[in-house]
Amino acid sequence: MTNSNMQDNRVNKDGKLTLTFCGGVGSVTGANFLLTGPDGLNILVDCGLEQGTHDSDTHNHQDFIYKPADCDFLLVTHSHLDHIGRIPKLVKEGFSGIIYSTPETLELTKVMLEDALKIATQDAARKNVPPLYEEKDVIDSFKNWKAIEYHKNFELAPNYSLYIKDSGHILGSAMFELTYNGTADGKKYSRKIVFTGDLGNSPTPLLHDTEKITDADYLVMESVYGDKNHEDSGTRLEKLKLALLDNYHRNGTLIVPSFSLEKTQEVLFEIHKLMDNKELPTMRIYLDSPLALKVTEIYRRMKKDFNEEATADSRKHDIFNFQGLRISDSSEQSRLIAKEPNPKVIMAGSGMSNGGRIVHHEAEYLGDSNNTILFLGYQAVGTLGRKISEGSREVDINGQKIKIKAKIEHIDGYSSHKDSDHLIEFVNDTAETVKKVFVVMGETNASLFLAQRLRDYDGVNAVHPEEGDTVVLE
Ligand SMILES: [Zn+2]
Repeated sequence: MTNSNMQDNRVNKDGKLTLTFCGGVGSVTGANFLLTGPDGLNILVDCGLEQGTHDSDTHNHQDFIYKPADCDFLLVTHSHLDHIGRIPKLVKEGFSGIIYSTPETLELTKVMLEDALKIATQDAARKNVPPLYEEKDVIDSFKNWKAIEYHKNFELAPNYSLYIKDSGHILGSAMFELTYNGTADGKKYSRKIVFTGDLGNSPTPLLHDTEKITDADYLVMESVYGDKNHEDSGTRLEKLKLALLDNYHRNGTLIVPSFSLEKTQEVLFEIHKLMDNKELPTMRIYLDSPLALKVTEIYRRMKKDFNEEATADSRKHDIFNFQGLRISDSSEQSRLIAKEPNPKVIMAGSGMSNGGRIVHHEAEYLGDSNNTILFLGYQAVGTLGRKISEGSREVDINGQKIKIKAKIEHIDGYSSHKDSDHLIEFVNDTAETVKKVFVVMGETNASLFLAQRLRDYDGVNAVHPEEGDTVVLE
């Protein structure tokens, strides 16, 4: 891809370093950014699916605003679908550069895209539209994918170096420090651009804390909770214990819409700890998600980046298994859970109830005031999860009207994103060097609010760009 003739054709006409916001602005999902060097080198960061809104489908099918074949590299921050979900489409449409991520992100992306393909194929058949991509495109996505560990100095291309830090969001999640050290406008020029990906709500049960960034020139940062704060982490474990005990004593069913990646493993680990400390009795807990099972296997295998406590515990025993845990792999087993006696807990995907097995459990259990639904994470606008969590009295599930009588609980301390105060704190570490902060990957109000707070509290130049904007990094 760095054939010199091709390079010449693509030299950035102004000879400047530019950044284009191709997706993930004005929206939490659909992350996609393009850094173009003075020499015309094109580096993409993330290529995610837009999720949740009524026009997500249309948006995902639209052409990219750049030519995929003109891009040299794709850097993948982490394996959530809103950061990886359009990679097979990118490859199908001509991208043949190298993809880089951490080894964990590579392994997790394989199972996430395999699952997404199944859902996308069924979805396209139901709507009678062509699928976003096919199996071949998913397989092709991994042909040129290379893993880089955290904390290695890596030369991406002449004049471009890459250093990966832990963002503490999910296993393998990365912040990319990308440094251009060359010339622009004929003068010597050096700039460090940091792409945060998603920033973890540290401290988390399994991961190391988000690392500090202290010398960025430009920061492209997430803002999911740009306008909200979470409860602290001590409260979250206590609230989880109380929700489980309350359901146990009421002899009810507790359903937990579960994000298969990270949140499920965190909750299994926390329940294990509570049971070990005799703070919870043994109870029947169904893990009803084939995807979560596959992801958990990868967590068992790739645990070298766990934090100290999780590492020490995982040396003693399987931290994701405990007495009372039942695994349901087939859809037949999933249906049979309804016949099992109370009290019981059902953890099933998807985390926002926009598909997956949780939906049939919601239809089964939401109509009874003795049951509880427990939300542990962000619910995107337009999803069934958002409607239920915001207190709708009645929802439509697969054409059936369900009156909601179950108790609705939230523990936002299990959110895997930093809250507003911690995002401010994060930027503060690099306030002295940063020339501009681009606040993205949030709903517009959250991003605007955070940009304003960053200007007021950290005194930094923070902006919320619009989709399609290209800025020159002076
Ligand atoms: Zn994420």
